[in-house]
Amino acid sequence: MKIERIETYPLFYHLQEPYGDANGFKKYRTCFLIRLITDTGLDGWGECVDWLPTLVKGFEERIQPFLLGKQVMDRTQLVSTIQKWHKRIAAAVSMALTEIVAKSAGLHVTDLWGGRYRNSVPVYASFQSYMDRSDWVEASWSKVEQALDLGFHLVKLKVGGKTIKEDQLHIETILGRMQGDHQMALDANQGYDLASAREWKKVFEKWPNFSWFEEPISMNYPADYQLLRTLLPVMIAGGEDYQNPVDFISHLQKRSLDMLTPDLLHVGGISEYKDILQLARHFGFRVSPHSYDGALVRLYSIFIQSTLPPWSKAKEEPIEPVEWDVMENPFTSLLAIGPTLGEVPIPMGAGLGVEWDLEKIKHYRWNGLSYR
Ligand code: MG
Repeated sequence: MKIERIETYPLFYHLQEPYGDANGFKKYRTCFLIRLITDTGLDGWGECVDWLPTLVKGFEERIQPFLLGKQVMDRTQLVSTIQKWHKRIAAAVSMALTEIVAKSAGLHVTDLWGGRYRNSVPVYASFQSYMDRSDWVEASWSKVEQALDLGFHLVKLKVGGKTIKEDQLHIETILGRMQGDHQMALDANQGYDLASAREWKKVFEKWPNFSWFEEPISMNYPADYQLLRTLLPVMIAGGEDYQNPVDFISHLQKRSLDMLTPDLLHVGGISEYKDILQLARHFGFRVSPHSYDGALVRLYSIFIQSTLPPWSKAKEEPIEPVEWDVMENPFTSLLAIGPTLGEVPIPMGAGLGVEWDLEKIKHYRWNGLSYR
């Protein structure tokens, strides 16, 4: 079974109102989908994110000439070669080839990997909390309130982009309005140093419903993470930007995190990503997939999480949740899946078990001219 045709779909969407985190504001969202079609008529989709002109040119000049005519069953070698050129494209190709192999066997991709522990996976509502307006705290609350109304149990808010005083006022305002046993995680995108991260201790001690503190400081400082893990009464999480399983080793050895947050897009392929999840389990860590960009990457994250052994023997403890982008982003609805009361059921059937919204893909196709 050979790769006979490759289609690419660069997509672009200009946001109605920019939103952001400690790294700044986003004015647009992009998505790059690929479809590999074989000489037997089977197809598989992949997804990656980068500067669209880079991906378009990269596919035209290097990836398509390399992949056309290659055997699908050589997928490990093919992905490994592309990893040397572009990690994120390698991740996309690994997704597409996996889907084709699963379809050729008449299996769901999770069956190809050895089967599932569960048929639904919890997700958490992930926010970009900053907006460029004076009432941003009220705007943030209105978005959190909508997510709680939809049945999300856990929300993740951004900190680290404003003064600690402003951020703490924001977070405590939201916590004061949240009812019931909803949980909150914070993400500073490595925006603090050790001293400023410690200033959150009093807030964590005051409110019982904090779940984790994500990347409070640079991930280059595992020894400081080790200290924070001891000092703060919440779980410490991180690792979304790491590009290799081995990048996690220093944190695993130093026991400096409670939870790993790898991203399938960044680590170059499904095999490497599954290796990281298994490493987490072998070392006794929790793992909550980072999955901010795109619908297909998120679907694969949910699939893989469904195949992960539980971290606890307690029956009532759920598997760790997967990130669910709830901000304005039309590309998160390209696949017809969604949470009910904070859980996403695994769509069943050969391959992915869910179809693409091809009309929407056509509608958002990038014009190739400008990002403005
Ligand atoms: Mg993060």
